[in-house]
Amino acid sequence: MTLKMAIPNKGRLNEKAVELITKAGISLGDDWGRRLNINVPGLGLEVFLIRAQDIPIFVDSGAVDFGITGQDVTAEAGVRVKEILDLGYGRCRLSIAAPEDSEIAKSGVMKDGIRVATSFPELTKKFFRSKGIKADIVFVQGAAEIMPMLGVSDCISDLVATGSTLRMNRLKEVQVIMESQACVIASEKAMADPAKSDRIGEIVDALRSVISAEGKKYVMADVPRDRLPDAEKIIPGIGGPTVVDIAGKEGWVAVQAVVGNESCYRVVADLKKIGARGILTMPIERLVD
Ligand code: AMP
Repeated sequence: MTLKMAIPNKGRLNEKAVELITKAGISLGDDWGRRLNINVPGLGLEVFLIRAQDIPIFVDSGAVDFGITGQDVTAEAGVRVKEILDLGYGRCRLSIAAPEDSEIAKSGVMKDGIRVATSFPELTKKFFRSKGIKADIVFVQGAAEIMPMLGVSDCISDLVATGSTLRMNRLKEVQVIMESQACVIASEKAMADPAKSDRIGEIVDALRSVISAEGKKYVMADVPRDRLPDAEKIIPGIGGPTVVDIAGKEGWVAVQAVVGNESCYRVVADLKKIGARGILTMPIERLVD
């Protein structure tokens, strides 16, 4: 049985998805950019490169078993799929934004008849319905930011990450509709099939191990045995550092531990202060708990 996985073919979610699955040990080969489906040798896995917006629909219909896409486009598609892993990248929010000098931006008040340009019509309609406001949705495929300038709409409902696109177009964020990030979704049908859900679970575990390793380093150092208690205070690690005897080096031990990037500088400097030698820091590709 071949498992079918979809990943975004371009845009913000593509590059990181390819990096993630490659680091997880799923090789797409060198020519993945030109091919829209790739048979991964030895894994019984076929990877399809599809538009992020279409992935929820194909996962829902069972055309593919699972995939990586955004929570925003999944919610917009209104499909019944299982979200099985948050990937922690592609973070953005769907927000209402209005021209900086408009009444809406100044007061935050939105009234019946408001015209909203968006490529997320369903989520936007739902939002205004929940507020009891009758909104006129102007559907656009992209570049919603320009619509108030053209007089086509009073405000927009669009994705915001850093907010710089809004600022460049003199728009002010008025309200957040939803927060989003990349995620793994799976079809209910595939998850109900024990053989498929088992293999999807295995791939999701591999992806999780890459995410767990991000922002961490592996630190190794030779430490005088009598300074071990100090070393343990400096690098607590996951459940304490691993301590190993060094052959032929009496009075010394090797300590090894996983350390967050943010504390790596301090850890190395403090280890040096207690007389550690041969201090190494290494990137970690995967961390399987
Ligand atoms: P920014 O200027 O960083 O706020 O980014 C806003 C622009 O990037 C808008 O055109 C968005 O449509 C697009 N964008 C931001 N984050 C994402 C995302 N996670 N997925 C797709 N498009 C995004």
